[in-house]
Amino acid sequence: MAAEIHSRPQSSRPVLLSKVEGHQDVVSAALLIPKEDGVITASEDRTIRVWLKRDSGQYWPSIYHTMSSPCSAMAYHHDSRRIFVGQDNGAIMEFHISEDFNKMNFVKTYPAHQNRVSAITFCLASEWVISTGHDKCISWMCTRSGSMLGRHYFTSWASCLQYDHETRHAFVGDYSGQITLLKLEQNTCSVITTLKGHEGSITSLWWDPVQRLLFSGASDHSIIMWDIGGRKGRTLLLQGHHDKVQAICYIQLTRQLVSCSADGGIAVWNMDISREEAPQWLESDSCQKCEQPFFWNIKQMWDTKTLGLRQHHCRKCGQAVCGKCSTKRSSYPIMGFEFQVRVCDSCFESIKDEDRTSLATFHEGKHNISHMSMDISRGLMVTCGSDRIVKIWDMTPVVGCSLATGFSSR
Ligand SMILES: [Zn+2]
Ligand SMILES: [Zn+2]
Repeated sequence: MAAEIHSRPQSSRPVLLSKVEGHQDVVSAALLIPKEDGVITASEDRTIRVWLKRDSGQYWPSIYHTMSSPCSAMAYHHDSRRIFVGQDNGAIMEFHISEDFNKMNFVKTYPAHQNRVSAITFCLASEWVISTGHDKCISWMCTRSGSMLGRHYFTSWASCLQYDHETRHAFVGDYSGQITLLKLEQNTCSVITTLKGHEGSITSLWWDPVQRLLFSGASDHSIIMWDIGGRKGRTLLLQGHHDKVQAICYIQLTRQLVSCSADGGIAVWNMDISREEAPQWLESDSCQKCEQPFFWNIKQMWDTKTLGLRQHHCRKCGQAVCGKCSTKRSSYPIMGFEFQVRVCDSCFESIKDEDRTSLATFHEGKHNISHMSMDISRGLMVTCGSDRIVKIWDMTPVVGCSLATGFSSR
């Protein structure tokens, strides 16, 4: 059935507008310049480049700056024309870009980390540059004085970061698969809670401060939506990628989530419907359908003189079942299962054909995506990757029509 979903004719798909080539190594970050036909890229080849679209329709570098260490992360603040570049050696460099994007001046170096910088956010109101790194910490530094304000250590590499500018809460994803919510103060911080649900390192986070939703993507190929504002611990699982989820972006206006995976998969999830929570997996010593014992249940095996069976779980009801009672597979998009998963025989009977209608669209980026960012107001997306290529996409065919959503026409 999975093949059916992916091969179903889709009239609307992302339109590749431009391909930007020239980097000598992995492009770790690419950002669209608001209101300009321009892209800023940072690469493992130690360069930062600003590319502007020329009359020929091609993008050419207007700035080409070489750094001392490979570039691993980047943040750009358009109104103040400030750019922060994180490096493999743990330092963050700040530059100021001229109005015409032809010059970039060095401002400051921040000794933010002891190891590779994984994510950066700049907050103009507080004049903080906040970052996470492979030295297992989040640090926040003052951009006026250049000094370190605070630091907090985790048990594993901190891999991604989202920040709520108004309330000074930070979400940090790490390599253990945990997300930590912290409240940052001037020189201290407090851990509010930890979110556990992924079975692999957290690779991307997106915080929507209005609906108070947190989205996390992980190396376990799945995405989880955490309803932080709902305060009931509600989570939704989204499984449709076949590789690490490298980047996510939630479009609040149309209630769509765009996600990209390392194999080039681009998914657009419809979050404007009431989805169901996937069940917790139940524990049992015997199949909850036929009551045959599982193999570790020596006592019952002895009593009934039967051989123990392997335990499986029905993804729809969460019951612990044996293989014989769960021979069928089905997709179940309302619970986030866009491809076929194991279901017990009674759940299979209960799933109607219309329940299998996909609630997401899937597209091919044909590209090893390591990072993505969107200019939501124009419906543009930029992806970059380990194949050293940067691609600029028109997403308006898949993220809603311009009149209904307020996207400016291109
Ligand atoms: Zn059974
Ligand atoms: Zn079931």
